Amino acid sequence: MSSPGVPGGSWRAFLYADPAAHSLSPQMHAAAFAAAGLAGQYEARRVAPQDLPAAIAELRAPGVLGANLSLPHKETALLLLDDLSPAARAIGAVNTVIHRSGRLLGENTDAPGLLAALDEAGASAGGLSVVLGAGGAARAAVYALRSRGQAAMVVNRTPERAAALTRDLGGQALNAAEVPWAQVGLLVNASSAGLGDPHASPLTPLPALAPGALVYDMVYKPTETRLMREARAAGVRAENGLGMLAHQARLAFFAWTGAEVPAPVFLEALAGGVQVPPRP
Ligand code: NAP
Repeated sequence: MSSPGVPGGSWRAFLYADPAAHSLSPQMHAAAFAAAGLAGQYEARRVAPQDLPAAIAELRAPGVLGANLSLPHKETALLLLDDLSPAARAIGAVNTVIHRSGRLLGENTDAPGLLAALDEAGASAGGLSVVLGAGGAARAAVYALRSRGQAAMVVNRTPERAAALTRDLGGQALNAAEVPWAQVGLLVNASSAGLGDPHASPLTPLPALAPGALVYDMVYKPTETRLMREARAAGVRAENGLGMLAHQARLAFFAWTGAEVPAPVFLEALAGGVQVPPRP
């Protein structure tokens, strides 16, 4: 990758979020720049909603690779970019902005990041899939599963949002009581229930799932959620969202730089930022 078009400068990338201080992305991308042998800086910036247009315009400057977007900007940024990838357009959310010669492309690496994490966790392609939630993360999950031929059932606290999601992206919106749980081989929590609260769960009680099922919780703080704890207690495999977080960052870094930095670099950088308890 040639050097940045700014005198004495290094490559720059940003996270735009509000709040931004809690983010684990700076440590992941600092490790990635080092592993790739590139001079680069990644800065988390608190950007209020009304300041997003100006912040996005700054990404067109020479030497800027792009940005990650997080709450509350993933959906509102859609209208501020020059182009959208098919995934970002279908999901309706951008988590990665890619700068190329003054033009800005909106991409969504949450969807392929989830698939990579599911593959690593050994999720089987057979059986039924259920996605809990109907926000941007759930839309990315339903899109991702559909891209490999798995239609998901979607269960959400507000059923109308699940119905709207499945109208857009396919799958079936159901109440929890309607799901044939004994046939479910993959349960993805894409709701924010359990985020920051080890006692909260999106699904109580946890129903019996198919033999060999995997529970994938996108939440990673705490690193073992109540949903995961209850799944493991019932002998069901369960993973937190750190794998997805690492893979979405890996894919964003590749889109910006063309450098294929392996996932363990991102995961090891994360291990410094969260307390990972020993696995049972
Ligand atoms: P969002 O757009 O705000 O959607 C939140 C969803 O959670 C909504 O469907 C909401 O239901 C549901 N929800 C919130 N509180 C709930 C509760 N107490 N019980 C049941 N459902 C509840 O958020 P998002 O951007 O989709 O993110 C969702 C989660 O995924 C967050 O925890 C986020 O950190 C995580 N995430 C992780 C990764 C990763 O890389 N691991 C990437 C993206 C997102 P209603 O529709 O009824 O409000």
